[in-house]
Amino acid sequence: MFIIFVKKLQLSQKGDHSKSALKVNKGIEQPVSFNPDAVRQLKKKGREINNPGDYFEGIKEGNRMILSKAITLIESSHPGHLALAQEIIDRCLPLSGKSIRIGITGVPGVGKSTFIESLGTYLTSRNHKLAVLAIDPSSEKTKGSILGDKTRMEKLANNPDAFIRPSPSAGSLGGVARKTKEIIILCEAAGFDTIFVETVGVGQSEITVHSMVDFFLLLMLSGAGDELQGIKRGIMEMADMIVINKADGDNLDKARLAKLEYANAVHLFAPSASGWIPEVGLCSAATGYGIDKVWEVIEKYRQLTLANGYFELNRKSQNRNNFYNILQESLLNRFYSNIEIGKSIKKAELDVQSGKSTPFAAVQQLLDKYTGY
Ligand code: GDP
Repeated sequence: MFIIFVKKLQLSQKGDHSKSALKVNKGIEQPVSFNPDAVRQLKKKGREINNPGDYFEGIKEGNRMILSKAITLIESSHPGHLALAQEIIDRCLPLSGKSIRIGITGVPGVGKSTFIESLGTYLTSRNHKLAVLAIDPSSEKTKGSILGDKTRMEKLANNPDAFIRPSPSAGSLGGVARKTKEIIILCEAAGFDTIFVETVGVGQSEITVHSMVDFFLLLMLSGAGDELQGIKRGIMEMADMIVINKADGDNLDKARLAKLEYANAVHLFAPSASGWIPEVGLCSAATGYGIDKVWEVIEKYRQLTLANGYFELNRKSQNRNNFYNILQESLLNRFYSNIEIGKSIKKAELDVQSGKSTPFAAVQQLLDKYTGY
């Protein structure tokens, strides 16, 4: 008896737990965990994070420090960063596309950031991983008026399952849009399954956001005419859902009334190619009322459009449009930065003004010069 006991003791001291009740089974495979030390570890091994492979590995692991660094490369106008950024994007591309991309717009003060914080917290509590990006048309002047300061969306900013990135603060709307699309690819490769793209509903930027998302949500207020809210009819027609925010306190009855009015208006719009009839909802981003219903509608939209093929079709057509937009922009840039064109364009302009040459002939001459004929 004593000998058996000693043998067992020896076995367990040797680390042989196969017969012990304390043996830990392997269990189900755990997801790759977020490794905040990856950069340090890589540096310790004597490797700087400056090659696309390291960036890709870090992004794939969900390392937000490396993700942020890669986004900074995309945003950079330094020519040296361009090739590196493109290579990182190329590597991430096969891992992208698996999220739902949601555009959120509305005039300043409608409650966009409160809404994003509320819906975002609801989603992360349901095991979603959320990235919040922004396209801010005023950012060039103000260096980022939306998402610029961290005090907006304070809860989400400290949420380990959410990633908030302010709008790139330089460049044309087209340039910012291209970068945002590339940032979406990186975020998806990093495992974010829900992407919000926020913009202020005051002009061209809503159309830009609409061109890169699967679902477009317009936030409105009750008790203010559309004109007052600065929302053009065209923007309303783009919306897959109109949500009337601040449906709380004394405002609730007015919000219910507004919901009916908007629901009637929406039915008059031309039917969408998606087969989806836009919905009108109510919420209070401040109290959380109606937030779950908003997500239900988004889920319903996703299911319908996945089933009828529109989801895929829309992404394909967005990619196609994106390709032609970049082609046009690049051609123009090349043309205008050509030295020969720089030398001759002013003279051509003067010749046209004075009637010496027709606009068509002057353009032909410039194009011939450009192509070397
Ligand atoms: P944004 O400019 O569209 O991002 O709007 P904000 O989220 O910054 O909100 C503007 C103001 O409206 C803030 O003072 C918010 O506290 C307030 N607000 C936002 N959502 C609600 C809501 O659901 N109910 C009420 N009563 N106030 C809200």
